[in-house]
Amino acid sequence: MAVPYRDALSKIRLAFPQPVSDRVHDSYFVHSVMRAMDAVDSLKSECPILGERHPLDYSLARHATVPEHGMTTEQVTSELVTYCSGLAIPGHPQTQQNVVPPPTISSLIGVLLASLYNPNLAWDEYSHRLSMAEVEMVAMTSKLLGYDPTRADGFFTFGGTGTTLYGVKVGLEKAIPGAMENGVHEEAVIFASDASHYCRYNIAGWLGLGSKHLLTIPTDSRNSMNLGLLRDQARAALRGGQRIAAIIATLGTTDAFGLDDIAGIVALRDELVEEFQLCYRPHIHADAVIGWAWSVFNDYDFEANPLGFRPRTIRALAGARHHIAQVNLADSIGVDFHKPGFVPYISSLVVFRSRDDLDLLKRPHEQMPYLYQFGEHRPGMFTLETSRSGAGVLSALANMKLFGKQGLQVIIGHIVEMAQLLREHLEGHDCSTVLNRENFGPVTLFRVYPPGVDTFRIKEKEMQDHAYRDRLLAHNEYNRKVFHYVHTEAMAGRGAVLSLTDCYRYTDYGEPIVALKSFILSPFVDEDIIEVIVKKVLEARENIEV
Ligand SMILES: *Cc1c(COP(=O)(O)O)cnc(C)c1O
Repeated sequence: MAVPYRDALSKIRLAFPQPVSDRVHDSYFVHSVMRAMDAVDSLKSECPILGERHPLDYSLARHATVPEHGMTTEQVTSELVTYCSGLAIPGHPQTQQNVVPPPTISSLIGVLLASLYNPNLAWDEYSHRLSMAEVEMVAMTSKLLGYDPTRADGFFTFGGTGTTLYGVKVGLEKAIPGAMENGVHEEAVIFASDASHYCRYNIAGWLGLGSKHLLTIPTDSRNSMNLGLLRDQARAALRGGQRIAAIIATLGTTDAFGLDDIAGIVALRDELVEEFQLCYRPHIHADAVIGWAWSVFNDYDFEANPLGFRPRTIRALAGARHHIAQVNLADSIGVDFHKPGFVPYISSLVVFRSRDDLDLLKRPHEQMPYLYQFGEHRPGMFTLETSRSGAGVLSALANMKLFGKQGLQVIIGHIVEMAQLLREHLEGHDCSTVLNRENFGPVTLFRVYPPGVDTFRIKEKEMQDHAYRDRLLAHNEYNRKVFHYVHTEAMAGRGAVLSLTDCYRYTDYGEPIVALKSFILSPFVDEDIIEVIVKKVLEARENIEV
């Protein structure tokens, strides 16, 4: 007699990839993926977003319950696709919103394979050759960044925030030995610049240092940490009996691609060790989650310029290299492949210059009795995470193989070239001014002014002269309006989706400077799109009220 659950079970079994080779069922699987892609494709239009954006009803969402009976795979696919409606298409040339890259086909296959067989990177018993892929990625990246790959070590973790968390945690263990076991009973501080990522607050809080022990150092006009002020504050902390858990140097700030002077920070740290006869060496973590990709230019011949970039691009790339080439002076480095590595979330790697640093995080074996009885590679003995997905590793590895160093030079070079072009065009009009002119990255921050404003002088006046405060604030409002106009147009398929930053920098008298922001990260951007953006911005001026 047929048992009802048995009937249901045989249907459920068909919903899994088959454990034993079954080509017919494989084509059903691939076909299901194709159907999903087809359905998403039908959401595409001229607009840089899938489908349409409607107001989201979260109160409805809060009433969701598990359905009594399940659906077919086909029905689930149609359901899932509806959740993609309204998403920005990151590879669309008109999407220039933020640091969100389009993933490559190879990286997506990496995610698929790593998800299909579900390796767990905690232990090579559960991930076998995937563990080797992680070791290969650590070696490749270390070499690329200028570390000695025979001494360096690292692992993938949960985002750029995770990479900095690990760097600072190791620093904390150096400054307060045994903190992992005894807790943090002494005062320790973290230094980072005011242009560094806000994850610094989380890290200070979550590590038990307290976010008020995070000391934020002002930046100069190029968004680089002011080392004179860092010296003053570090001395004051040490004199007051506090320890230095870490100094976070940022290479490529999120909003403006500011680059800290690592060599200068290292020299200052060494000077402090001497002066205060410190029994530990304050840890320097380089947050290079964005800037790491520029290291592919470390050995590029800028004179011969074999890839044929324009002079302005060469200048910007060489300028960035000057800073990135020094990143190997840091004790640890954070890398996001899900930023300028064209890999989907999450794919982040933290590398330490010296493998010994990882011992500071190791837990005793007795705490984990059911794991790690054998095998050679057991990152789970010191990682914060227990399970770690192989998806980030395999997708990053896919892109390293797909692009090679030269492919990355081509993409990074191109997006920098397009950003330079945008700046050139914006500077060619007397109503707009580029705020981060001297900057080397793919982000352009600019402001637009109403008719009758002398934009040649306004930038400095607004920045420095308190008498310009009212005009600054009025122009902040004006730029918000320009942004709204450009945004509404873009959502209707006309022009590009840009973003707005509420505070590019503070003026000398403490007011925020609002700016429009273009973050180019799509290899599909070309000169025609740049012209469209500039035209839209000019058109906005005609259509908004002062
Ligand atoms: C994005 C970013 C982070 C945070 O990285 P997540 O991957 O989003 O956790 C940290 N630092 C910088 C400079 C960033 O741009």
